[in-house]
Amino acid sequence: MKTVFEKSNGVDGITLTDRIVNLNFIAPALLRTEPIGLPQLSELDVLRHYKELSDRNFCIEKGFYPLGSCTMKYNPKVNELLASLEAFTNLHPLSDDADCQGVLELMFKLGEALKKITGMDAVTLQPAAGAHGELTGMMIIKKYFEVKGKNRKKVIIPDSAHGTNPASAHLCGFEIVPVKSNDKGQVDIEELKSLLDDDVAAIMMTNPNTLGIFEENVLEISKLMHENGSLLYYDGANFNAIMGYTNPKLMGFDVVHLNLHKTFSTPHGGGGPGAGPVCVVEKLKDFLPAPVIDYDAEKYFRNYNIRHSIGSVKGFYGNFSVLIKAYAYILMMGNNLKEASENAVLNANYLKEKLKSAYILPYDEPCMHEFVLSGEKQKQENGVSTLNIAKALMDENTHPPTVYFPLIVHEAIMIEPTESETKEVLDNFVDIMLKIAQEAKTNPEKLVSAPHTTPVKRLDETLAARQPDLNFKQ
Ligand SMILES: *Cc1c(COP(=O)(O)O)cnc(C)c1O
Repeated sequence: MKTVFEKSNGVDGITLTDRIVNLNFIAPALLRTEPIGLPQLSELDVLRHYKELSDRNFCIEKGFYPLGSCTMKYNPKVNELLASLEAFTNLHPLSDDADCQGVLELMFKLGEALKKITGMDAVTLQPAAGAHGELTGMMIIKKYFEVKGKNRKKVIIPDSAHGTNPASAHLCGFEIVPVKSNDKGQVDIEELKSLLDDDVAAIMMTNPNTLGIFEENVLEISKLMHENGSLLYYDGANFNAIMGYTNPKLMGFDVVHLNLHKTFSTPHGGGGPGAGPVCVVEKLKDFLPAPVIDYDAEKYFRNYNIRHSIGSVKGFYGNFSVLIKAYAYILMMGNNLKEASENAVLNANYLKEKLKSAYILPYDEPCMHEFVLSGEKQKQENGVSTLNIAKALMDENTHPPTVYFPLIVHEAIMIEPTESETKEVLDNFVDIMLKIAQEAKTNPEKLVSAPHTTPVKRLDETLAARQPDLNFKQ
């Protein structure tokens, strides 16, 4: 320590700063005249501060996280270990193909697995999230019609869709045409027929849809669209419900994105990174972003030679660490991916049946991996809104479900238990939800002022988003 100090300060007592000034490296006007004012804290103080902050966060390791549409399932820790191997993290993205065969092989094989799972013919791993995959898919569809010489301007989107669907299509310059859901929570076929004309480029669908209901008429819909010369886009955010049971190709879709961070296990509560690979049918293969990862003559390589490529949609090759985690998860699960979907669906139906006596169930149908309740009864009868119920759950060490989505259900409470929870956890959640329904009648004031036990109480969410106070102190 002493020698380092002597070196930097100099044996003659002249500091390093003095020397730099003397050499005129930095103009005196730019030099700091006051001490920098760094906080004087010990390493232990800092550790305790951050540990305390992290303890305030909710995470899947702390409790149940039934956030509908987000698939907050358990992500095996071994994925993180593999993604942090130095051979991956220290590799330069511009290395020659010959020097990174292993990494290219991983991407190629992940692509092959995703093609198999979706039934599709070609894949890009570039997009960084689901919404980014949607944008990529829409760009592909747009260019497909351009190359055919007939620009089509409209994209049909069900009213139950996730907001990113119309946003992505709109960003691509398409006009959005909404189609209503019928009383079974599915696309209204008659209305769809009335919307079809030769200006319709595509329909964007989620199946199972955001109500957690499987679109029974999907084959009729794909026939109608194809007869109309239109394409079908599949939002794969709900893939956790169908792995190994069916796939978008069998349902007649042409383009699909997957949310690797949802279905294929990457933690995503804090907002990223994610990955939204896009798989397409043969006739759209020549439109994929470049490069794609290919294999020929016993070598893996980055293929930039794609005839009608829409160009690159992301720096380099996508969020590579997420690709590693997805590949590890798929290899680990193998044919058990099917069982994961089976349990996700079973768990959701179990909760739905247990809760439908206490809350309104607007679509009383067998559900897939998630279902939507309504807090309308509690609101009308007791003045307790869905937001109040969500806040009350936080006092019970449970992450609130998704609320106020999908938009077509008033006071929506959207619950997705995932496959990774035990019956004990589910039963405990049922007890809590029933207790809250009871409290809505007997003690509504408690719910209206919830949460009572969290580090921060009610936030002004608009202000919090627009002017975040990052120096929050209790
Ligand atoms: C999550 C989700 C998206 C968007 O995916 P991101 O990865 O968050 O961009 C799109 N559609 C549905 C139905 C979703 O649940």
